Amino acid sequence: MSDVLSERTDALRKAHSSNDDATDRQLLLLIGLVVVLASGVAAADLWHAIDHPRPIPHPGLLALVVIGAGVANRVKVYVRTRSSRNGTTWGEIPVLIGLVFLPHVWVILGAAIGVAIVKIIAGTALHRAVFSVAKEVLTASAASLAITVAGSMLEPGTLAATIIPVALGYAAISLVDDLVFTPVIAVASRSTLIQVFRKDLGDRMIAHAVRLATVLYVVEVLASGASPLLLGFVPLLIACLHLWHSQQLRTKEERRSWRDLATTTEELSSVELTQVLHVAATQGARVFSSDVVEIDLTASGIDRVVRAHGSEVVYDGPGPRKFAGVGAITAELETSDRSYQAGELVLGFHGRVKLNEFEQYKLKTFAAALCTAIRNATAYAELQRLNEQNAYDAAHDPLTGLANRRELYEHAALHFQGNTEDGVVALLLIDLNHFKEVNDTLGHAAGDAVLREVARRLADAAAPGDLVARLGGDEFAVLLVNLPTPALATHRAKTMLATLEGSVSVEGMQITVEAAGGIALAAGSGGVNELMRRADVAMYQAKRAGQQTATYVHAQDPADIGRLALGGELNRAVAEHEFVVDFQPIVDLGSGEVVSAEALARWHHPEHGYLTPIEFLQTVERSGRLQAFADAVLDQALDASDLWREAGFDLPVAVNVSPRSLLDPRFPETVLARLRRHAVPADRLIFELAETLTLSQLDVVGKALTGLSEAGVRLALDDFGTGVTPLSVLSHIPVHQLKIDREFVGAVQTSSEASAVIRSTVDLARSLHLTVIAEGVESEPQRQALWSLGCLAGQGHLFARPMSAARLLATLQRGTAGRPGVLATSLHEGGAVVRMSRRRSGGSGRSALPHLPA
Ligand code: C2E
Ligand code: CA
Ligand code: CA
Repeated sequence: MSDVLSERTDALRKAHSSNDDATDRQLLLLIGLVVVLASGVAAADLWHAIDHPRPIPHPGLLALVVIGAGVANRVKVYVRTRSSRNGTTWGEIPVLIGLVFLPHVWVILGAAIGVAIVKIIAGTALHRAVFSVAKEVLTASAASLAITVAGSMLEPGTLAATIIPVALGYAAISLVDDLVFTPVIAVASRSTLIQVFRKDLGDRMIAHAVRLATVLYVVEVLASGASPLLLGFVPLLIACLHLWHSQQLRTKEERRSWRDLATTTEELSSVELTQVLHVAATQGARVFSSDVVEIDLTASGIDRVVRAHGSEVVYDGPGPRKFAGVGAITAELETSDRSYQAGELVLGFHGRVKLNEFEQYKLKTFAAALCTAIRNATAYAELQRLNEQNAYDAAHDPLTGLANRRELYEHAALHFQGNTEDGVVALLLIDLNHFKEVNDTLGHAAGDAVLREVARRLADAAAPGDLVARLGGDEFAVLLVNLPTPALATHRAKTMLATLEGSVSVEGMQITVEAAGGIALAAGSGGVNELMRRADVAMYQAKRAGQQTATYVHAQDPADIGRLALGGELNRAVAEHEFVVDFQPIVDLGSGEVVSAEALARWHHPEHGYLTPIEFLQTVERSGRLQAFADAVLDQALDASDLWREAGFDLPVAVNVSPRSLLDPRFPETVLARLRRHAVPADRLIFELAETLTLSQLDVVGKALTGLSEAGVRLALDDFGTGVTPLSVLSHIPVHQLKIDREFVGAVQTSSEASAVIRSTVDLARSLHLTVIAEGVESEPQRQALWSLGCLAGQGHLFARPMSAARLLATLQRGTAGRPGVLATSLHEGGAVVRMSRRRSGGSGRSALPHLPA
């Protein structure tokens, strides 16, 4: 009998070649069982034949059985699939006819021999041949049994006696065929018995009916002794039916195959490359019934091979691919216009396989779809990568790789939305001191190197969860999170800043990095902007105070006080005379004699107590009350000058002036009017101006100051050395004094750079006939160092802290060592006068030190 569908051979091949050992064993067991059963039956038949030798009644018919069974076994409907199923075939017809007219033993043996001969001629593998023969023996024996039993029960000669045994025989053949193959196919295709049985059930039934009708017709013709010519058209009918059925099957199979292909290509529309490859590899095996599918992307520059056995991906990694040889069918993975090559697709079969035209077309379609899917997935991955890169770039500082300002804000915002478990959060704002000098003197490359090193140190010192960011320029920020207690913020900040202390090596030079840090604890309201502002306030305070860190304190927040001012606080301060002025004496560094005094404003606030200018100046300058404030200070300063002069100390008074006041065109006139009212000579007033003016402002200010200067008022440049190009200022406005900033004075003994700045300031002053005053002199050694650098006057805690006008008068009167007007012992007894007079003799009247009492 024939085994026409290659699914069956497939199943056997599977049994032989499957990589799945369990499946292998099950199949072998089934096949073994069939062979053993068939051997038993065949042996019994053979024994029976030998035991009851009978002549062969119709040798021609027997020959037909042998040839029919063999040939039918060779006729194959070429459909390469594992899933298709088609019951019994035309091979049953000669066997059934034989069973009706010949001794059964001969028919069974004949059919077996026919199949065996054909298999031997075809060179089929032994185990497959044995299985086919065994199956043939079993089906024929089953039919024999059915026909014998049915025949014995029916009355011979009736139509029923002719039809029923044949029908039952046919049923027995189909049944045994199903019994043998259903489990084999189920195991091979990993489906259930029911699934295999149900497959194409309708088609199978029609085919059975047609074949059964044919058998019955032949049997009836032969049995009725009618002319055998009536059988002449039967082979033609069989051939036609066979062709029609094959065509039917093929069409159906092609349709199913296209549907499979369509679903598979649909499944390929993933944007994830791995998913595309895995789906293609496993589905490819199904669509083409191949044993192995390999997708090799090496040609497209990606070293990756994906291999699937059946529905399982067994390898996904670098090449080379494994499957080659006779059973390998390779397809280029390229788009239909060949514009893109993704690699190669290999279908692997155990044994030589030739694809028909339809399958080749299908393979091409599949390869093109896979190629497009790979291209899309790779493009998507590239897009994804670009997006990630863009997101990274948008959140990071390119120079240092730290988070940028935006990222810091967003991260901190999460905390304020309560979206993180960050515990107590604080912001540390870090600003490098004198970084501009590094850039200006060593170049930007060196500056960049310093910034990178600072970034690295901060990042290393950060605790897990902290976010270190560069805000721009030389400004960094650290979001400190998970602080066990708010008090630890300062400790953490100090630890971080301490890591910046070791010098940075740039191009063989050792650069010291100094930084000031402002700390602010996250407050309940105000969000990130408020936190940032507070850290900024604290940082500014640290810088001003010359400290490494400062922590934000509500009471010292100028903006906070500014808010009070909006509620009419400033008006009240002016009306209630809450602005008071303290005076700090300026002394001759050599002799210790007081030469003048600087007026320093304070706000005697009813709630906040004494507020220093740092705490309220900004607010005053921004409010509309600056003029009233400045007038109050000037009035008190001139009053004080008056007071001291009447007591015999004719000291000029130095008043700090905001650039904003100078921009007011009425300023010179109001000043001169005040001087007249207080009857204070103009040369007893000095204005101190910080060098924070822009060049365009300088023009306006220059005019105002020239008028005042001509009237005799003098001008001091405050905080000299810290601001912008002093020389340009000097050419615009009439300057009489330079006040060396506290920062340099504090470092005069320890830093050669500081003393160099002081020395050059002194030299500059000497050539322009200006007086130099050192600010913030705190110790005797500083005083001596300044003196030896040529700086002749100074103020600072060493001599006196700022105090009220009356207290300063008392201090002057008390004097030192019985000398009124002197606040320190002379540096060199007698020598001081000589050196000072020598220096002073070189200056013009304009540039001389303030008047010294005799
Ligand atoms: P400034 O003009 O540089 O004033 C000197 C500052 O140094 C004062 O701070 C003074 O108290 C402080 N000081 C003096 N000796 C020493 C010392 O030995 N060591 C240290 N560490 N500090 C010392 P103050 O009083 O807080 O004034 C701060 C700034 O406010 C002043 O800096 C000045 O620029 C501004 N200011 C003060 N009063 C007025 C004013 O009436 N009008 C304007 N526009 N600004 C003023
Ligand atoms: Ca000053
Ligand atoms: Ca100053």
